Amino acid sequence: MTDFSMTTDAEGVATITWDVAAKSMNVMSTEAFALLSALVDQALGDAAVKGIILTSGKKDFAGGMDLNVIARMRAGGAQAIFDGVMGMHQVLRKIERAGMDPKTLKGGKPIVAALPGTALGIGLELPLACHRIIAADNPKAKIGLPEIMVGIFPGAGGTTRLVRKMGAMMAAPYLLEGKLSDPKGAKAGGLIDEVVAPENLLARAKEWVLAATDADLVKPWDAKGYKMPGGTPYHPAGFMTFVGASAMVIGKTMGVYPAAKALLAAVYEGALVPFDTALKIEARHFTSVLMNPSSTAMIRSLFINKEALEKGANRPKVEDQTVRKLGVIGAGMMGAGIAYVSALAGIEVVLIDATQDAADRGRAHSEALLDKGMQRKKVTAEKKAEVLGRITATTDHAALAGCDLIVEAVFEDPKVKAEVTARVEAVCDGVFATNTSTLPISGLAKASVRPDRFIGIHFFSPVDKMNLVEIIRGRETGDVAVAKALDFVRQIRKTPIVVNDARFFYANRCIIPYINEGIRMVAEGVEPALVENAAKLVGMPLGPLQLVDETSIELGVKIAKATRAAMGDAYPDGAVDEVLFWMADQGRMGKKAGAGFYAYDAAGKREALWDGLAARFPEAPVQPDLSEVQHRLLMAQVLEAVRALQDGVLTDIREGDVGAILGWGFAPWSGGPFGWLDIIGAARAVEICGGLEARHGARFHAPKLLREMSTKGESFYGTTGAAKAA
Ligand code: NAD
Repeated sequence: MTDFSMTTDAEGVATITWDVAAKSMNVMSTEAFALLSALVDQALGDAAVKGIILTSGKKDFAGGMDLNVIARMRAGGAQAIFDGVMGMHQVLRKIERAGMDPKTLKGGKPIVAALPGTALGIGLELPLACHRIIAADNPKAKIGLPEIMVGIFPGAGGTTRLVRKMGAMMAAPYLLEGKLSDPKGAKAGGLIDEVVAPENLLARAKEWVLAATDADLVKPWDAKGYKMPGGTPYHPAGFMTFVGASAMVIGKTMGVYPAAKALLAAVYEGALVPFDTALKIEARHFTSVLMNPSSTAMIRSLFINKEALEKGANRPKVEDQTVRKLGVIGAGMMGAGIAYVSALAGIEVVLIDATQDAADRGRAHSEALLDKGMQRKKVTAEKKAEVLGRITATTDHAALAGCDLIVEAVFEDPKVKAEVTARVEAVCDGVFATNTSTLPISGLAKASVRPDRFIGIHFFSPVDKMNLVEIIRGRETGDVAVAKALDFVRQIRKTPIVVNDARFFYANRCIIPYINEGIRMVAEGVEPALVENAAKLVGMPLGPLQLVDETSIELGVKIAKATRAAMGDAYPDGAVDEVLFWMADQGRMGKKAGAGFYAYDAAGKREALWDGLAARFPEAPVQPDLSEVQHRLLMAQVLEAVRALQDGVLTDIREGDVGAILGWGFAPWSGGPFGWLDIIGAARAVEICGGLEARHGARFHAPKLLREMSTKGESFYGTTGAAKAA
């Protein structure tokens, strides 16, 4: 174990350097923490050492705790977690007190954290226990406590120290929203003490150590007469902060994220007691969050498995397929977005449309986004010119020569797509991808003379914001095309899932039943507000009625008609169409039209649910329970995900979970559809399905896979996914 090493110079300044071998970023492990503790003991006990600099041997300080370690902690049980966390508190407290006399607060050794770059999570909690934090002026560095983003909260004293350092109100964005700042912003916000030129970092740290006085080492909360900035909960000003914070947290999280609630409780209760007791309270709440299956599920999907997919967990073993020149056909909403993210990633792009005007409009989309970036000071004039310089907007197909990947985003019409395929393949032999959202890839591939190099690359709208890309393997798609698509997605820094070809692929296959279940309930007379709120209270970002308003009722009608034509008598959604088609007849086509299930003001801002709906679909006198509505909305999506796995459309549950959260915001607290099923257990899921099936029909019949798992007592991540899941 060499994660930390120590040297001491002639003037008695010890430097502890954090440098985890074979990793580009330092992450903390339990063993490394013990080593750090031993080095600190050694330095504090060595009379020749005057003070300590804690720094990194890498360009960044640290990325945080190793989340693989945290994800496994739950298995050890609550007592072991609590003891482990209290052990960390002891070490950090030892650093903070640095050998000083507990009564006189004199005689300690100064310890300074010198941060060359990014410092996240424990990478900031450790510096917060030091006596001073100095960061190099590195605008790329990110400093903060992002734990809340993966379903936990800063549990190594970060919560307690930050609140005592800056007050609950000022600490709120860092703790509750995981706000990250560059070094200058972190200094302005009060997270760190000093920013210096990178080349002066260690010299300045040493200078501070040698000049530090006893008083410089005493934390405000250890000094006599300490008062919390902004006031404690029973102080009039503090009272207002805590009332406001509780309302804000519940408003934002709908109460489904255990970490946000526990964090708030730790802050509130901690503020009422002495510092060391507050740490103990923080440890108890942190333990409760780690014991909650939601935190394990979130870490697994939002961090470990998302990263594994981005690194190519399911990439076929063929040579590098990095895209050098990309052709985009169709410069509409999707094509223009695809051109933008690709040019931004350094790829040369030929953007083609039927007219020069349309192609230019597509390129202008990039210009508008870059201008916005310039207004926000995120993009320089040079960067804008460089990115725009990579996009050639034209109608001339000859310009496609040399493209190693083509993405087609023309109208959703198989005839138009077939013509485009033939025309492109005549001038270019790159891999051909279609961005279709509904047409089966194997059918479209019939127009190709090279079906092994024909694939689906399905982006979500808006392309520059949505991070999921669904890659669809047609029946004849070869490995090189899959690798090409995956390498492309890596280049544009999005997250890929690879699925097999079937109606609506994976994401839309699950989203459509969710929307349909909501609409079906409206037809039955369930109050629309109950439908929408039930969805939000179970962690869906948008209720089904808002979602169909946003994606447009016109599109819903189009998809319904095409599906009915394809399925004939087996078409199951007549009840949904009754509402959907009626809405279309009323001209209520959704948000873009300024009228849908919701009413919108003149500026297009969503107001309340439309009160005209009840005239045609009156509310039933008896309304269902909240949980019944929630089970219907969740199961509509989740059973489809299970069927996709059972049918072989999904081949990896990790992709099913990560894809659901990134693609349509499926209740992130649950870790995804399979994560949710594991939390409630297959037996309970089958029981819920049984009730729903009896009351609402065969669409809730539990799939065979789920029933078998229930009988055998299996879980997705414990058994079926064990080989592939982290
Ligand atoms: P759009 O109507 O905004 O753009 C289509 C563009 O293709 C237009 O600019 C049109 O002029 C151009 N075009 C049509 N025929 C052409 C041809 N023969 N040669 C060159 N250009 C031609 O449509 P969109 O919303 O960008 O959708 C494009 C594709 O992406 C569709 O297949 C759609 O299903 C799919 N898709 C859309 C979304 C979405 O949310 N809009 C999401 C995922 C996938």
